[in-house]
Parts: sequence; C-alpha cells; structure tokens
Amino acid sequence: MLKIGSHVGMSGKDMLLGSAKEAYSYGANVFMAYTGAPQNTRRKDVSELKIDEAWDYMKEHDIEEIVIHAPYIINLANTVKPETYDIAEQFLATELERSAAMRSKVMVLHPGSHVGAGVEAGTAQIIHGINQVLTRDSQVCIALETMAGKGSEIGRSFEELARIYDGVIHNEKLRVCFDTCHVNDAGYDLVNDLSGVLTAFDKVLGTDQIAVFHINDSKNPCGAGKDRHENFGFGNIGFEPLYELIRMKEFEEIPKILETPYVKDPENGKKSYAPYRHEIGMIRKGIFDPSLMERILSENQK
Ligand code: FE
Ligand code: FE
Ligand code: ZN
Repeated sequence: MLKIGSHVGMSGKDMLLGSAKEAYSYGANVFMAYTGAPQNTRRKDVSELKIDEAWDYMKEHDIEEIVIHAPYIINLANTVKPETYDIAEQFLATELERSAAMRSKVMVLHPGSHVGAGVEAGTAQIIHGINQVLTRDSQVCIALETMAGKGSEIGRSFEELARIYDGVIHNEKLRVCFDTCHVNDAGYDLVNDLSGVLTAFDKVLGTDQIAVFHINDSKNPCGAGKDRHENFGFGNIGFEPLYELIRMKEFEEIPKILETPYVKDPENGKKSYAPYRHEIGMIRKGIFDPSLMERILSENQK
C-alpha cells in the first residue's frame, strides 16, 4: 500500500493530535512533523504533546506511522563556532528522546554545513556529534537527508553521506532520507536517468538504507544546487519520474512525504493554501492534472 503524506504543523493545544488531524484532512496515511519550531530550541514537555490522544486518533484513521524531522538550526558540522556545535549536540540528544516518546522510528537530520572549514572538517564533526548521541540502545534511527548542495552543505553526494556512515560507530542506527528535489539539484538526473541514479545510490549506500522519501519537485534544473521546492509535477523533475519512483515495488513500505510549497493567493498576498490534499489525490489517481494549482486557488477563494 502506498504510504503518502506531507509535513504538517504541530502547535497550539492539540499538538501531535492536531498534526494527525491535519494529515487526515489531506487524505494522508503517514505524516512528518517537527517537534516544535524548527528555528529555535524552545520545546514543550512531552507530557503536553497529546501523544496518546494522537495515536488513538491515528489508529482510528488508518495512519500507521509518523516521521519526525530535526530542526534545521542543528548544525553538527560547525567547527567554526563551538557554541553552535555544543547546542546542536545537546539538542540532537533531546530531540531523539522526544522522537522516541512520540513513537517515531526515524528522525530526519540535515547532516550540516561546514561554514567554510571544508567538507573534511565538517564531516569529522558530524561523525563526532552522532557518535555522542547514538548508542546500541537507541530506539530511533537518524536518517541523514540527501542535500541540494547550497552554501556549504554536506551530503550533496551519496559519497559524502557514505563517509558519515563510515565514521559512525552504531551506523546500524543510521538511515537515509532521499529528497528528490535535493538529489536532482545536487546533479543526479532523475528525469533522464532515474534507474541510473538509484543504481549509483545502491552501490554507495544501499537502497535498503532509505527510510523516508521527501517527494518534492524542483524550481530549478538538475545540478542547480539551489534547494527550492516546487509542487508535484509542476517543476523541472515533472510528474512522470516522481510518480515512477513512488510506485516502485521496492519502496512500497517507505513513507513518502511531500514538502511542496503552499500555493500563494495572487489576490491576497497574506494568504496561501496547503496543496497536500490535492496533490495526494492526484498522486492516488496517477494522472497529472495541469489545472491543479488553479483548482486549489478557486476552492479556497470561494
Ligand atoms: Fe529536510
Ligand atoms: Fe527534505
Ligand atoms: Zn529542501
């Protein structure tokens, strides 16, 4: 069965229960959430996250699993500012505990940016950080995300991720989050050579290491290194390769998460609309709908 959903919010009184309700409203059977605001380290206590209520709701609504994404302020690769690294390491440890309490099997992590110190120094620091937090008893795996290569991001090639695997002691607790926008932006041609890209991935990391897909189209061509997501089928990757990947038998059990952009209202600059119910509907039908964006606008504007 196709496991598809999107990233959803987690806030207010309902917290994880609210995330589950949002996911259900999109027709999703899996979802991804941050444990709190991704740009800061303020977090509610797990007792306030409505975890049991959320899981009761999920069981009633056929949502069988969730994915947690670590906040992007965590930069384990920073060797330039020791304070930044220290915060990252401590926060990563508590985020893993929170992910376990929320009953996620994986936590997606951006490997980090070396901020000028070079890939080698940054990679060594990432390995050091992960080795501080992952133990034989860790209940949650860390899924390293494939990155687009903007700025000084590490993880733009499969080899860079493999180097992290090589240094991590408990690398049986590592996985990969395969982001289609990022992979294409990093220079792997998903449009003309999907099977070649997957073969290359399999040689370097092993496709069995993929624990999550981020299914995003890209506003930019292959190799652009920009990381700007586009709605499913409306970017430079297009419907066919993304749909082909989603339907692969090999990845049937792997959650597919949309992180596509909200649709901006051209008549009201303050408003934008979640595209996920429509995108998921289109994906389930398996036919590209070039008028999808207009439909989202017209349904929300009335
Ligand atoms: Fe990410
Ligand atoms: Fe992503
Ligand atoms: Zn991205």
